[in-house]
Amino acid sequence: MKKADRYQQFVEYFSKHQPDAVTELEYENPYQLLVSVILSAQCTDKRVNMTTPAFFKNFPTPEVLAASSQVEVFQYIKSISYPNNKAKHLVGMAKMLMNDFGGEVPADVDQLQKLPGVGRKTANVVASVVFNKACMPVDTHVFRVSARIGLTVNAKNPLQAEQQLVKNIPEEKISIAHHWLILHGRYVCIARNPKCHECGIKQLCKYYEKLQGKRPYPPH
Ligand code: SF4
Repeated sequence: MKKADRYQQFVEYFSKHQPDAVTELEYENPYQLLVSVILSAQCTDKRVNMTTPAFFKNFPTPEVLAASSQVEVFQYIKSISYPNNKAKHLVGMAKMLMNDFGGEVPADVDQLQKLPGVGRKTANVVASVVFNKACMPVDTHVFRVSARIGLTVNAKNPLQAEQQLVKNIPEEKISIAHHWLILHGRYVCIARNPKCHECGIKQLCKYYEKLQGKRPYPPH
């Protein structure tokens, strides 16, 4: 299958079957999403969602968080992975928001990356989800799934995968395609033993094609 056809079928399938895909993180404003995404590194969205209600009750704004200590913040996120580092990053992030950005979360990916605890992936999530920018955050699910399907080829790192995906997915679909890939990786194309038998895109998947060991595709 040609690359362009693979992309076209991928976009067509998910546009039809998951037209409203969104993040599973629960948030009410850009500040809350930024905090949640920082907390979600190496942690499940489910656990983050269990933690954030109490967190936002006690640290409702960047101003309050900036005036808090790392020890205070730690108490509210200690069930999350790497709580010490994340507490330090959250306070530092809030201080920078207050000092350099007037207390507002910036929409620009480069500016977002200046904040403590905010790497390229986190910046892309915030820009994509809150500001609806055509950004493609590449996490472990997006990296694995896009390579298996054959959307990315020989991508050696998340940045290379991001560049290939952004180049080939129609601009207006990039933001939602990020959710398609994450959700597909979380529930169907899981890391070990992907559920190919129940996968709706096996007809366009390179990994599945190789599994069959022949063309054209067998009946399914
Ligand atoms: S067919 Fe299998 S490997 Fe391909 S996307 Fe579906 S679950 Fe993943």
